[in-house]
Amino acid sequence: MTSNQYDMQNPLTQYPQPEFPKQPQPVPGLASKMEPVPDHGETSYKGFGRLKGRKALVTGGDSGIGRSAAIAFAREGADVAINYLPEEQSDADEVIKLIEAEGRKAVAIPGDLKSEAFCQELVAKANADLGGLDLLVNVAGRQKSVESIAELTTEQFDETFKTNVYALFWLSKAALPLLPAGATIINTASIQAYQPSATLLDYAPTKSAIVAFSKALSKQVLPKGIRVNVVAPGPFWTPLQTSGGQTQDVVQEFGSEVPMKRPGQPAECAPIYVFLASQESSYITGEVFGVTGGNTLP
Ligand code: NAD
Ligand code: MG
Repeated sequence: MTSNQYDMQNPLTQYPQPEFPKQPQPVPGLASKMEPVPDHGETSYKGFGRLKGRKALVTGGDSGIGRSAAIAFAREGADVAINYLPEEQSDADEVIKLIEAEGRKAVAIPGDLKSEAFCQELVAKANADLGGLDLLVNVAGRQKSVESIAELTTEQFDETFKTNVYALFWLSKAALPLLPAGATIINTASIQAYQPSATLLDYAPTKSAIVAFSKALSKQVLPKGIRVNVVAPGPFWTPLQTSGGQTQDVVQEFGSEVPMKRPGQPAECAPIYVFLASQESSYITGEVFGVTGGNTLP
């Protein structure tokens, strides 16, 4: 699949529409094994020097939305460190090659964000290897659909909150003393913060928490010249969804529930991350940006 985000065209038919094949994979899943393989902008994203010399840490940078942001950041001139889980090394290797192909520095730091100690190490290593840090981009997340509250375990509830919310707190806390004025933090919520699904009883409230955390943090750190914003995607074609985030029946029809009748491709999320990272968004902080295929945010 090759995108072209620069020539005018009908967005309804720009990318694949359901029905998709069933394609179970063990969590966290690899983008390379998806059918169709997602478009993260590999062959299409053009850079215009909007992040020249910037230094970014992107969690979940191996696949999906994080990968599209990492590729776009490198094409815009940034050096990029990515975090992911060790099982995702093959997806991460592809991203590292793409960043290096731009002549930018790429740093791979695998590890589990559910550990506070690892979150601290991750920030310290990204800062050391990149020679500074001015973009913290939190994209990693965990989603597992469960039909009934009776089957939702305390372990899962805990893991989802640790991955989606606690990690954000730990990474922000570790990064803030290092971030200069002009730096930005970008967090990733979801349409689920506002229109929660019945089967995402643990995941949806993590996304509401991310919105509130980000708005509060934006007020706290603005006096330092640091901005915090949030991207809230609708249904995107990524391993998170196809590897347990939804049932395989839902995967087959994925995206049909939104007005655009198709899932977003990760490449369609990259430009908003670039905009929020760059100085172009200088007067914007504490805001949430929907990228939802027409399911509008409140
Ligand atoms: P993805 O599977 O490609 O990315 C999620 C990444 O999270 C994984 O690649 C993995 O590296 C990382 N991750 C998960 N658990 C981790 C852990 N314990 N430690 C370290 N890393 C861990 O899927 P995606 O859809 O691109 O997800 C990116 C973000 O977008 C998530 O926060 C997700 O909640 C959010 N989101 C996705 C959708 C969608 O429809 N795909 C919609 C709304 C929001
Ligand atoms: Mg992944």
